[in-house]
Amino acid sequence: MLNLAASKQNTILKVIATLAELQSSLTPLKTSGLKIALVPTMGALHQGHLSLIAEAQKLADIVVCSIFVNPTQFTDPKDLEKYPRPLEHDIKMLTEAGCNFVFMPSVKEMYPSYPTPEQWKIDLGEAEFVLEGEFRKGHYQGVTQIVFKLFDAVKPDVAMFGQKDFQQVLMIKNMVKVLDLDVQIAVCPIIREADGLAMSSRNIHLSQSDREHALVLSKALFYIEVNYNRLELDQLLEETKAMINTVPGVELDYLTIANGDTLLPVEQKSEQNTMVLVAAKVGQTRLIDNIIIN
Ligand code: AMP
Repeated sequence: MLNLAASKQNTILKVIATLAELQSSLTPLKTSGLKIALVPTMGALHQGHLSLIAEAQKLADIVVCSIFVNPTQFTDPKDLEKYPRPLEHDIKMLTEAGCNFVFMPSVKEMYPSYPTPEQWKIDLGEAEFVLEGEFRKGHYQGVTQIVFKLFDAVKPDVAMFGQKDFQQVLMIKNMVKVLDLDVQIAVCPIIREADGLAMSSRNIHLSQSDREHALVLSKALFYIEVNYNRLELDQLLEETKAMINTVPGVELDYLTIANGDTLLPVEQKSEQNTMVLVAAKVGQTRLIDNIIIN
């Protein structure tokens, strides 16, 4: 275990790599009645992740951030291979944020039989198979598999997730319901760059021109938000899809005005719980974003 002095609240960040060490560190804290928050991440931390840590600090006494690039949720081996892993930078950020624990296990620690797959198949409902689920088959089985393992290891009172991965939040809430897990799920808003681009670990892969082109995604979302009462649903989608398709290097996977529970397209503007969700490849990088309409 590595100890690093934190600048915030004199907290010491403990870096933990094994499940056994995690358990021996957390058990006495839990026994003494402290509330534990878990912030699961894949690292390459940015202000979006830090907003989850800050919210976790409001809701709990002890914050555990996990950093694990989970192989079972990647459908493209190249994407897994090139996922950024700036561990020293991440540890520095968590230290400055006053996080208490960072859990950074190896793949073997989380999946002892890896690369032989473990059995995991749960019913996440129909929304598993649309949008991201359609473009990344099996993705949410992999996501829920690792989140379950992390919940089991940390046994948090509350776990923090970002609205940025809206469908992921929905799937995790469904898992919690189906498996009757005793954990509160807290959802945090999307943190954006000053020009509107949603922060993402993958933004690091964008070239300068990709970075400019990527702005069309948040622009399209804001356009729909601003014009929602003025234009028809078809018109909103038609105009924004045209807007996106004129930008070079941007390949749209989907842009949809959907119900926030089913993720199916809304038919009436009067419907409640409406979202706009978008996914596109910008250059070689796949980005997702969304906005809540009502
Ligand atoms: P990731 O490391 O990409 O798996 O993300 C870890 C957590 O941070 C997930 O719950 C994400 O939804 C959340 N997150 C990622 N980007 C942002 C952002 N720009 N704003 C808020 N939360 C985010």
